[in-house]
Amino acid sequence: MKIAARKNSSLDEQRRYRRQYDRDRSPALRSAFPQLQQLNIELSFGDRTGAAPKEVVPSSQSHAFYPPAQAFFRFRCPCADCDGEFDLSANVAQLAGTPGRGSRTVTAKVHCAGTRARDRATGTTCPIELNYRIVALGTP
Ligand SMILES: [Zn+2]
Repeated sequence: MKIAARKNSSLDEQRRYRRQYDRDRSPALRSAFPQLQQLNIELSFGDRTGAAPKEVVPSSQSHAFYPPAQAFFRFRCPCADCDGEFDLSANVAQLAGTPGRGSRTVTAKVHCAGTRARDRATGTTCPIELNYRIVALGTP
């Protein structure tokens, strides 16, 4: 049991290291999307099974990106023991590529595809669902 726990934490460490590595190698927003002045990403979470008590549902997050920020749009599942992440890179790219000026918004819902540590034996997927809102503000 002790060994298994240690194995898990080192896997988590590797994952964290990998994310940090990927983040460090991300270009700045101003070079990835020079047409953007600002990008806001709002994340709110729900439990699609309805099994978790309300207080267990993670609180929402808001991220603002300015031109010098790193264009890194992968967000960890807020469940501490879940290995899932939400990759919004393609959604951001699509929104940024939408022609037109001013602000553009996209909202959608995605399910976490990760597995929580306690569910790894059964392979049950994480019950968290993400509602996201991306607002891209173009340069005037
Ligand atoms: Zn998850």
